[in-house]
Amino acid sequence: MIADHSSGHSAQLGNLSIRSRVLVVDDEPLVLEGLIRLLTDRGYDAFPAQGGCDALIAIGKQQFDIVLLDLGMPDLNGSEVLRFIADRGVETPVIVVSGESSIDAAILALRAGACDFVRKPYEYEELLRRIDNTLTRSRLEKENNHILQRLQQSEKWHRFLVNNSPDFIYTLDPQGHFTFVNDRLESLTGFLRNELMGQHYSVLIDDDDISRAENVFNERRAGDRSTRNIELKLKCKSGVRRPRLMQGRNKTVELTATGMYENDKNPFERRFIGSYGVVKDISERKQAEETVHYQTYHDLLTGLPNRALFRNHLGLLLAQNKRSTQSLAVLSLDLDHFKIINDSLGHSLGDELLLAIGTRLRQCLREGDTLARLGGDEFAILLPALSERNDIEPIGRKIIHVLSEPVYLKGHEVYVSASIGACVAPEDSDTVDSLIRQAEIAMYHAKTQGRSRLQFWESGMQAPYSERMQTEADLRRALARNEFVLFYQPQVNIATGEITGFEALLRWWHPQRGLLTPRDFISIAEESGVIVPIGDWVLRQASAQMADWSKAGLPQVRLSVNISARQLENPNFVDSVMRAVQVYALNGQQMELEITESLLMRDLEANAIKLGRLSATGIRIAIDDFGTGYSSFKYLSRFPIHTLKIDQSFIQELEREENISIVNAMVSMGRGMKLNVVAEGVESQGQLDQLQQINCHEMQGYFYSAPVSSHEATYMLSQPFRGFGALPDSAIA
Ligand code: C2E
Ligand code: CA
Ligand code: CA
Repeated sequence: MIADHSSGHSAQLGNLSIRSRVLVVDDEPLVLEGLIRLLTDRGYDAFPAQGGCDALIAIGKQQFDIVLLDLGMPDLNGSEVLRFIADRGVETPVIVVSGESSIDAAILALRAGACDFVRKPYEYEELLRRIDNTLTRSRLEKENNHILQRLQQSEKWHRFLVNNSPDFIYTLDPQGHFTFVNDRLESLTGFLRNELMGQHYSVLIDDDDISRAENVFNERRAGDRSTRNIELKLKCKSGVRRPRLMQGRNKTVELTATGMYENDKNPFERRFIGSYGVVKDISERKQAEETVHYQTYHDLLTGLPNRALFRNHLGLLLAQNKRSTQSLAVLSLDLDHFKIINDSLGHSLGDELLLAIGTRLRQCLREGDTLARLGGDEFAILLPALSERNDIEPIGRKIIHVLSEPVYLKGHEVYVSASIGACVAPEDSDTVDSLIRQAEIAMYHAKTQGRSRLQFWESGMQAPYSERMQTEADLRRALARNEFVLFYQPQVNIATGEITGFEALLRWWHPQRGLLTPRDFISIAEESGVIVPIGDWVLRQASAQMADWSKAGLPQVRLSVNISARQLENPNFVDSVMRAVQVYALNGQQMELEITESLLMRDLEANAIKLGRLSATGIRIAIDDFGTGYSSFKYLSRFPIHTLKIDQSFIQELEREENISIVNAMVSMGRGMKLNVVAEGVESQGQLDQLQQINCHEMQGYFYSAPVSSHEATYMLSQPFRGFGALPDSAIA
């Protein structure tokens, strides 16, 4: 029975069917009992309240889905119960079930908050139908309320998101007036919302960008075809107290805008109702881009334009001048003997000197002139709007004069001079590259003609410089083309005549010029920096050679490798040496690095650290060309040194009495420091005899053998013992 009727009186909640709870209020026990039974039979959870007071207690304690309320009750009548319910804000629907027959009673009850009125006596079915209707209506209302609340919540969320967006979001009416702006407006532009609402968008656009902005702000396309990421400058309100981050009078932003159309019309005749857009603040990104741009185009030491920017300026001016009769001049300026000053003062004072020179040069020039630092101690000057060639001379004189004044650097009085080369466009040339090159060639000529002077470019003035440039270009290609080879010169124990090691010496098989020795190219390689990859190659090649010898079962001898200044200064130096040793699984003691003493003294601290790391792995250090620098034994003791190589200039004049005593002193000091002493450039029996007498350990020189190919060195190593009897066939001067 119950099951048959229960469907309409229970709400479905997932699989759980919850029975509706009905409070029945009547002072007549019989009526009350009858109703409770009826409702229970029909699947409701029915609760009795015998009178108004009971009803209030029940409502105060529990939740009901519906109340059936009698009006006339002795303790508290139905109207008062209704008022209580209304006052408390209880939302349970109430059906008044009453014997009152007047229409007024019904109206009063409905006004007091009842949702239906059923007159006694009633048909059970009629009452049940009314109950069911009321419950259904109440459930629908609840659901609606819930949806509404969710909508309101979601709208709140959207408003929150829009207002707290890091981007400025707006809408415009079809004429371009602001109809909505989010909170970000103020922090971005300094404008308040009410200052902008209703205003035309143009009040916000930087004057330069107005016409570009027109297209974007009038954007009528929607969806994928909208305008995306257009860069614009916004005006910022001046005079108001701005947030800390807002500096400058405008902000660079990126704008995305889309047209808005009425939704429900035929897509072909949809009405344009305005546009909306998102404005992203990209000033920080712009600033980063500007920094990168600055670094790309400026010399970071002096802040002057670099070569790239100088070329840009020159290119622009050349293009402009094509349309006028004006000339321009390019000056190339190079400090004389800067390398010596830099080496003796140290790099940081050298940098300060360059800064000071930059400032002085700038003072000689006019506003529109460009002064650039092209690299090292080389500057370039661009003089636009020149009326005649003669105008250059006084400027050159002024520069030379200003630079001749001493520079004071931390207690040092430093004198510099500069050589200047000049050429004029369009007379001499009208392209960027050839102008710069001609000015540089003229500058080199100024240097060869006694320095500290101005030299104009003249046609035919090429030779000395271009061979050098050719060599540099060839050098860059030589590694890739495998044109380098190593020669090996043996080092021999003076007492026994045994080969103790080899020095690896670089040779270049130049495709046109034949076999070149370092004298022909090493300084260019050094100055251009190509020496660094070449030096790496030498390290690897020498290591590979030692690995080959060891595989062939030949005696394990030392291999010495020459290290250049640029290599040693390179931050990767230590790693690249260690890598070479590791890749070929060498014993560190087999590798010796030859470093000249003047190079070692250049940066005492850094070199001591680097060499310390290397010698910790067993790698040996030799002081090359010892005696030619200005180092003292005191400094040398700070480095982990194993070998002292006495410079050949002392050995070759060993016949002179004073040299004998100098070499003697060097050998005994070296012995005192427990170093292996090697005499370089030994060419004769007489020199060897002297060295034997003063107990020098080892010798290297043409007397025993000139540097030889890898093939010949391998052959030498494989010979058991050769003594000093005769020169090997391979020995060539
Ligand atoms: P260095 O380190 O003083 O090398 C010794 C130079 O003296 C070599 O010249 C060698 O051929 C030469 N020599 C050897 N025995 C005699 C002799 O009895 N009499 C005379 N007059 N000379 C002798 P080389 O091979 O022309 O090298 C010249 C310089 O080039 C080297 O001087 C070294 O500073 C540099 N060098 C050579 N190979 C390399 C290298 O792989 N890397 C670097 N950075 N520099 C290198
Ligand atoms: Ca050497
Ligand atoms: Ca040497």
